[in-house]
Amino acid sequence: MSTESECIFCSIAEQAVPADVLFDGGDTLFFKDINPKAPVHIIGIPKKHLVSLDAIQGDDHAMIGKLLHEATHVARDAGIFESGYRVITNVGKHAGQEVRHLHFHIVGGEDLGPLICNASSL
Ligand code: AMP
Ligand code: ZN
Repeated sequence: MSTESECIFCSIAEQAVPADVLFDGGDTLFFKDINPKAPVHIIGIPKKHLVSLDAIQGDDHAMIGKLLHEATHVARDAGIFESGYRVITNVGKHAGQEVRHLHFHIVGGEDLGPLICNASSL
């Protein structure tokens, strides 16, 4: 398993830092966001350190596909499957990516409204 020191999500994957884990898929992990932006806010990660979606290579395709499938089961367990939810990944500076370890936000539990982007350039 590829890991990186000083990476908070690698530390969570290694159980060196505690998290409220909801599902362990072996090579993936789902846990509650520490600073939720919606009533349900779950983070899904590959345990392997990948900086962002940009870092995915051919070897990762099956694992990432599995992670997204697992996200639907995690959403069902969290009670947001019927009402709907959003899966988001931020890539790089303009997306505001803070944690440089690929992660998917699974958010729901209320009407999330339209996907908002900065309208200044529209
Ligand atoms: P992003 O801006 O896409 O990089 O999102 C990073 C997310 O990780 C934010 O929603 C943070 O609240 C969340 N986060 C940061 N540290 C932790 C942690 N130790 N446990 C759970 N979630 C975290
Ligand atoms: Zn990492």
